[in-house]
Amino acid sequence: MDQNKIDTLRAELVPSFSHLIDGRHLPASDGATMDVVSPINGQVLTTMARGTVADMEAAITSARAAFEDRRWAGQPPAARKKVLMKWADLIEAHALELAVLGVRDNGTEIGMAFKAEPGSAAGTIRYYAEALDKIYGEIAPTAGDILGLIHKEPVGVVGAIIPWNFPMMIGAWKLGPALAMGNSVVLKPAETASLSLMRMCDLALEAGLPPGVLNAVTGEGKIVGEAMGLSMDVDVLVFTGSGGTGRRLMEYSARSNIKRVYLELGGKSPNIVFADAPDLAEAAKVAAAGIFRNSGQVCVAASRLLVEASIHDDFVAEVAKAAEAMRVGDPLQLETHIGAVNSETQLNANLGFVDTAVAEGGQIVTGGQRVLAETNGYYMAPTVVTGVRPDASLAQKEVFGPVLGVTPFEDDDEAVAIANSTVYGLAGGVWTSNLGRAHRMVRDVRTGVMHVNTYGGADGTVPLGGVGQSGNGHDKSLHAIEKYINLKTAWIKL
Ligand code: NAD
Repeated sequence: MDQNKIDTLRAELVPSFSHLIDGRHLPASDGATMDVVSPINGQVLTTMARGTVADMEAAITSARAAFEDRRWAGQPPAARKKVLMKWADLIEAHALELAVLGVRDNGTEIGMAFKAEPGSAAGTIRYYAEALDKIYGEIAPTAGDILGLIHKEPVGVVGAIIPWNFPMMIGAWKLGPALAMGNSVVLKPAETASLSLMRMCDLALEAGLPPGVLNAVTGEGKIVGEAMGLSMDVDVLVFTGSGGTGRRLMEYSARSNIKRVYLELGGKSPNIVFADAPDLAEAAKVAAAGIFRNSGQVCVAASRLLVEASIHDDFVAEVAKAAEAMRVGDPLQLETHIGAVNSETQLNANLGFVDTAVAEGGQIVTGGQRVLAETNGYYMAPTVVTGVRPDASLAQKEVFGPVLGVTPFEDDDEAVAIANSTVYGLAGGVWTSNLGRAHRMVRDVRTGVMHVNTYGGADGTVPLGGVGQSGNGHDKSLHAIEKYINLKTAWIKL
């Protein structure tokens, strides 16, 4: 990446964004717009359409029509693959432009955003494009006078509600498999991170996706998101975001057409460090990166550090040192390690969690405060709090900010008990040289993913999904496809 190119792109005026409905850019039905505030400096970057219920209904009608006339599902797999492959190529060709636009909108440091956003989105779209003509139906082992066929059909209209932390990456996790399987999609990006994802949708049309197959409506969750949730014409809802919204989506489903609802709701992931870790210095650096990158706004963030008591003080000192070495600042500077918190609301919520942690007996080892306030941007110092009891708020509630709570443990059983003491179960990590202990931890800690002697790495070949109140269903890998198909049996008397 070239700093000069980034600086040129950041200086560009950003036009007002409108909805994408039936292949056309349309304003809100009542003409309303909402300000897009950049977390880099608190300034209004541009405006976007403030969607209405009528806008969402128009988008769903368009998606339904596109599905019913089979303009996409009816194309030969090779043709659909070609379009999706071209889309991935276009995302890559526009990668820096998309990444900078996204960072201006959501504040993630550019080094991470470039890889995790357009880079990962293109890879995901390509993965499902390559997969789509390798997914077969089945022949059931029936008696000889019967032929039992199991078809894998697209579900119909998929509603996808996307959060603000990684809009393109998470958007692609839903769009890739949904479109590969022949569905139509209506997308609802997050209020505070819509722009890059909306631009990415334009590129899908440029790649040859027929109008109406992918629609996107910007605006407020409680208006357009609710309209999507309550629609009688959306067949599947896929969502990443907060538990509160996830619960509402299940309610909307129950109150409308019992649409399938798949939720990815974040977590309170434990990173467990034993004294016999192969490299404690490396473990400390990774523990810091595992919570502080993207200002902790990562669903799998390693937000609870469980440390074997015998090494607690030295290890915490190393983690604090690593945190203090991370440069917080302008997310569009290549040397920045930690960019801006996504919104003022989120920044204030983060600071509130720190106050509560202290009130509940925690001690701040480093950080704990807003920084660079003179920029009017939303920046927070990476924060380490020790003395966090397993039942304290900081150990129980998802902060979604750069705040690490540290809790000591004495032995394996206590580590597992603490690790499993939240309502969540998305991710976790264990650091040990003992192979048997590593496998036991993988087995006993209730999560969707466990890292061993590393944290946070993964690629598109493995599923991501939680247990407990971290949600249901999986993004990524071939397993994600199950959310976007119906099984249909044909029972044929020969
Ligand atoms: P949120 O759940 O309110 O927003 C996520 C998405 O849901 C957005 O697109 C939003 O517009 C939409 N939405 C909001 N209300 C809706 C409704 N009533 N019906 C339909 N859609 C609706 O999350 P938030 O307020 O942006 O963030 C709050 C917390 O959520 C964070 O602090 C964090 O704990 C969690 N979060 C988790 C993830 C994750 O990756 N798991 C991502 C973002 C936020």
